[in-house]
Amino acid sequence: MRPVVGVLALQGDVREHAAMLEQAGARVLPVRRLSELSEVDGLVLPGGESTTMSRLLESFELLEPLRVRIADGMPAFGSCAGMILLARQALDGRPDQQQLGGLDIVVRRNAFGRQVDSFEEDLEFTGFDGPPLHAVFIRAPWVEKVGDGVEVLARVPDSQAAGDAADRIVAVRQGAVLATAFHPELTGDERVHRLFVDMVREAGSQTMEER
Ligand code: GLN
Repeated sequence: MRPVVGVLALQGDVREHAAMLEQAGARVLPVRRLSELSEVDGLVLPGGESTTMSRLLESFELLEPLRVRIADGMPAFGSCAGMILLARQALDGRPDQQQLGGLDIVVRRNAFGRQVDSFEEDLEFTGFDGPPLHAVFIRAPWVEKVGDGVEVLARVPDSQAAGDAADRIVAVRQGAVLATAFHPELTGDERVHRLFVDMVREAGSQTMEER
């Protein structure tokens, strides 16, 4: 089955995500309006600026419909700002910043601080085989709290250089919702996208069984 995976196309690395999803076996549809949202089996929320994305979601009248689809079990994958949007709560956000929910996590925006706005790190990632995953972080959040149903997939390795960031949670999954604090669309390694496309396939075959 070649599932239809949407990429929320309001801001961010839309083309890069689309290319990785295609490599991972999906048919890709950019999503800007409600009619497009209703055609997809799963959705990627790219990085960007979560407060701006939250405002754009409201002005494109996608915020509430997206909340409903996620609550109904549509698979979603958020990277960076996308992770922030999917979280139950965002710390250091703007007071009017909206959350989509889907992940029982609390994230802190721009958590890694000014000196290390952007950095790269090799991560042990639970969920697929092979060598560590090279991860690019850009003004990234980290996950401060996870609820019971949340699986931790990756943490910042514990090293002296990591300081406060050591052991911080940077990738999670809860049911059909996946999120990374980093940008897997930038490194040419499609394992995270492959994991997500598999999740979309799995959710699709479950829906077909229910019918
Ligand atoms: N710092 C951004 C925010 O708070 C996220 C950065 C990113 O997506 N690369 O939304």
